[in-house]
Amino acid sequence: MTFDTDVRSLRGVGDARARQLEKLGLRTAGDLIQWYPRAYEDRRQICLLKDAPADMPVCIRAVTAGAPKAVHIRRGMDLCKVRIVDESGGCEVTFFNQSYVRNALKENHTYIFFGRVEGSAGRRTMTNPVFEEESASGQVTRCIVPVYRCTAGLSSLQLGRLIRDALDRVQLPPDPLPDRLRQKYRLAHNGFALETIHRPPSYEELATARRRLIFEELFFLSAGLSALKRRRVLLPGPKMTERDFAPFYDALPFAPTGAQRRVIEQAAADMVSGYPMNRLIQGDVGSGKTVAAAGCVWLAAQNGFQSALMAPTEILARQHYETLAPLLEKLGLRCVLLTGTLRAGERRAVLEALALGDAALVIGTHALLTADVTFRNPGLVITDEQHRFGVAQRNTLAEKGVRPHVLVLSATPIPRTLALLLYGELDVSILDELPPGRKPVATYLVNESKRQRLYGFAEKQMEAGRQVFVVCPAVEESEDLKNVTDYAKTLQKQVFPHRRVALLHGKMKDKGAVMAAFAAGESDLLVCTTVVEVGVDVPNASLMIVENAERFGLSQLHQLRGRVGRGTHESYCVLVSDHGNPETKARLQAFCSTNDGFAIAEEDLKLRGPGDFFGSRQHGLPELRIADLAGDVRLLQEAREAAEDLLAEDPTLSRPENRHTKERIETLFRDSGERFN
Ligand code: ADP
Ligand code: MG
Repeated sequence: MTFDTDVRSLRGVGDARARQLEKLGLRTAGDLIQWYPRAYEDRRQICLLKDAPADMPVCIRAVTAGAPKAVHIRRGMDLCKVRIVDESGGCEVTFFNQSYVRNALKENHTYIFFGRVEGSAGRRTMTNPVFEEESASGQVTRCIVPVYRCTAGLSSLQLGRLIRDALDRVQLPPDPLPDRLRQKYRLAHNGFALETIHRPPSYEELATARRRLIFEELFFLSAGLSALKRRRVLLPGPKMTERDFAPFYDALPFAPTGAQRRVIEQAAADMVSGYPMNRLIQGDVGSGKTVAAAGCVWLAAQNGFQSALMAPTEILARQHYETLAPLLEKLGLRCVLLTGTLRAGERRAVLEALALGDAALVIGTHALLTADVTFRNPGLVITDEQHRFGVAQRNTLAEKGVRPHVLVLSATPIPRTLALLLYGELDVSILDELPPGRKPVATYLVNESKRQRLYGFAEKQMEAGRQVFVVCPAVEESEDLKNVTDYAKTLQKQVFPHRRVALLHGKMKDKGAVMAAFAAGESDLLVCTTVVEVGVDVPNASLMIVENAERFGLSQLHQLRGRVGRGTHESYCVLVSDHGNPETKARLQAFCSTNDGFAIAEEDLKLRGPGDFFGSRQHGLPELRIADLAGDVRLLQEAREAAEDLLAEDPTLSRPENRHTKERIETLFRDSGERFN
């Protein structure tokens, strides 16, 4: 039997079972063997009945004191009872609807039972334990039991049996990782890893096996992505030459952080390489990504190239314009703003400046993508907060230039591993240093009973001259919209009659004006939906109140919190939630205790899976069988390094010894529409 043998050749697999397996995508013996457990249960502890803990299942070595008795309760409800004893006492075991037990359990015979022992000496019970004969080799008791993702009609236990059967009978293919690589990264052999992942004798050996299999998976993934990247690198990009950044740094109103300098240098190295840059700058809210982008714009302009900066909303585009225009002007460069609300004449002037090459930078929303926008000499395309854009949009924009350099700014923040994978074909720079003087935002979780105190606190902030955000969950329905509107009215009339309360929601036409007025200090309190979530900068705002906080994801809350604490003032974020669910509460409380965006994103990833971030399927990435995106960073780095080394030696993977690797990559990316020639 080989990896390719059909599952029907396994013991007990007929058409019905094969259909169930097909639902999980399992067609061959190899598929089964590579169906790695999603968890393990430690069933190694053997206890005496009298010592069994009440809250944890354990193994009991006991003798059946009599024959199992079947009891028919009613239709669809059968019981089977048997008394078992060990040297410390007895226990009544009940099986519900497991009629096979009657014949499976012999009288006066020693078995190992695994389950929870309830009650105390007088009346101990066990319900539906799994069991096997003491002489059995230990597949479901006295061992570490794998837990498999399964499907209706096919339990983890049954799946485990099939997998073990396949393992025993299949002739494993040669190790897909070359010896040299296994030695360099101290990786276990293929055969050991597959055997151990399904039948781990200990957690130590399991760790060794997992490490090897995760590495393998990430290695092939990285190699595939890397091959894609190399293919792109065969195309020429806008040719630029190096410049001394001193004039740019001197024009900044502050000294750049070390991280900003480093990231600008990394991007600049791409831009002078002769190949198109494809770089993601990832940095927590407030880390100063705009400056890094401006550095690239400046470099492009020094080389006679124009840049475009796309923001997800008009508010953000305007805000970028307001910071970047004066900075660039100081450097002798013209910056224009192109949004959907421009009057015809204004629009014409902007388009002309672009077509003639007078403008070094155009900032806008997706309006930038319309057909009538032409550049004289486009060289750099930047998208801010890219998660709001589809990949398609990014590509359309990229196509506007002659393969321009592409820079993506993101504060999502995506966990490192996910960033590396999703943007595997992108280079990643991380801004891991906040500008000096930033204080963490003190965050609190309160319920309705504290509302008056909260309003009192908001009043104090405004009295001190600060401004306040009140965010309500953004919902499309008109009813909720009315809620925001009504809420703003109530706050204005009944709570803060002497303060200027403004309202901002997604359906409003003049969002930019409202936001600009708030930023300029013309209102004190802004009631809004999540339109403010991304990037908006109001350094004077010191309090962020989030209503119905339970309705937000943690990363989203982090984005919201990032709207305050941008100036020098002590800042606060208050989550209001009356949600009773203890898990929700714990989640929000965890959020209150950290300001670390990456930690929060990783928590989010664990809770909701990677799909919520970008939808990895959309990126055509293969699904991972074993690598855990929330962890495994070190290993991913090693795997990437190994893949890079391999491709540096044999870029087209055409050497005979790399044939297997090439095949693996092709299979892996079969569904992504990519081709490796
Ligand atoms: P984000 O990474 O969230 O886009 P921004 O680029 O909007 O961050 O920067 C956040 C704030 O920090 C802005 O007000 C900006 O002027 C300020 N800032 C950026 N870099 C520095 C720095 N090196 N020193 C001081 N302030 C800075
Ligand atoms: Mg920003």
